[in-house]
Amino acid sequence: MTMPADNKPFGTFFLPGPTEVRPEVLLAMTRPMIAHRGKAFEEVFARIQSGLRDVFRTARPVLVSSSSATGLMEASVRCAPPGPVLAVVNGAFSERFAHIARSCERETDVLTVPLGRAVDLDELRTRLRARKYVAMTIVHSETSTGALSDVRAANALARAQGTLCLVDSVTGVAGTPLFFDEWQMDFVLTGSQKALALPPGLAVGVASTEYMRTASEAKGRGLYFDLVEFEAYAAKNQTPNTPALPLLYALDVQLARIAKETMDARWARHSAMAAQTWKWVDDVATRRGIAIRVLAPEGERSATVTAVSLPAGISGVAMAAEVAKRGFVIGAGYGKLRETTFRVGHMGDHTPDRLALCLDACEDALGTLAQR
Ligand SMILES: *Cc1c(COP(=O)(O)O)cnc(C)c1O
Repeated sequence: MTMPADNKPFGTFFLPGPTEVRPEVLLAMTRPMIAHRGKAFEEVFARIQSGLRDVFRTARPVLVSSSSATGLMEASVRCAPPGPVLAVVNGAFSERFAHIARSCERETDVLTVPLGRAVDLDELRTRLRARKYVAMTIVHSETSTGALSDVRAANALARAQGTLCLVDSVTGVAGTPLFFDEWQMDFVLTGSQKALALPPGLAVGVASTEYMRTASEAKGRGLYFDLVEFEAYAAKNQTPNTPALPLLYALDVQLARIAKETMDARWARHSAMAAQTWKWVDDVATRRGIAIRVLAPEGERSATVTAVSLPAGISGVAMAAEVAKRGFVIGAGYGKLRETTFRVGHMGDHTPDRLALCLDACEDALGTLAQR
């Protein structure tokens, strides 16, 4: 089985989420249902645990939620102890994290970072010292801008102040290095439909023992997103409620593929595709005289998604539409950057050779749009 149902070869769908799913992974979802309180399920769950621990580089249990990633973002805030939260905001998804904190009735201070930039660590240190925060929220790879923040350093700064660091690594984990245990992280989550290259609908996350200790004392955790329950059930290779079984089957198959590739090779493949995209942007700007540039400065760029600034007169929405006519899907800009950028999701199971074809289509589309 090599062709999906639409008969297109793999490697045409470069949206920064959901990402393209391999046919054999999709096929796993058609397996018959099993009881979620039985031995067969526990075996699947145990295998998934071991694969996910390798992905997160942790010995901690990996919490598996049948929700989109936003569910675990909300869980991480709800289960944190009471007190003010500092939200680092450098794009639409980090703004969502701040919004979640406010909607959970947390007093929320915002550290605003210019769009396209990673958080400035000196500024973060100053803000963390200025007030006692119980938690801070930060996005590892800001999918709306393509900026990568140094969450290892941010986590260390938070720890030094006794602040829990809650990390949305939805387009980070499985595409860019993150070592949960070695970096002594507090909480990290991702979603199924980004660098893991699965269909949407699952969120997975890891919490430190310190986070779980404080969570067990936090009031008003609710039921569905109570991480204390998630951990208690994970210890029995189960989930608190009926999980999205087809997605777990797909995850099981995908984790075996990832183990075969190895995480090191997966990270290397992502960083090669990112470098290929950045080089293409520079080349097109020089060769064709079209003023495009990578939004995030060098050294602050994500390995999984690139947002490209467009010259006045070419809109991100028109760009995505023009590329679609050539058989490839890319993203328009997101949020405030919808019209002024376009985004290429070079993550998941994509390969440099197919990415090259997608970038050719982008170049052709730009040529057409620049003439209008
Ligand atoms: C996609 C994405 C989300 C939201 O994920 P959902 O699965 O739609 O809830 C959150 N944060 C980042 C950085 C994302 O890229």
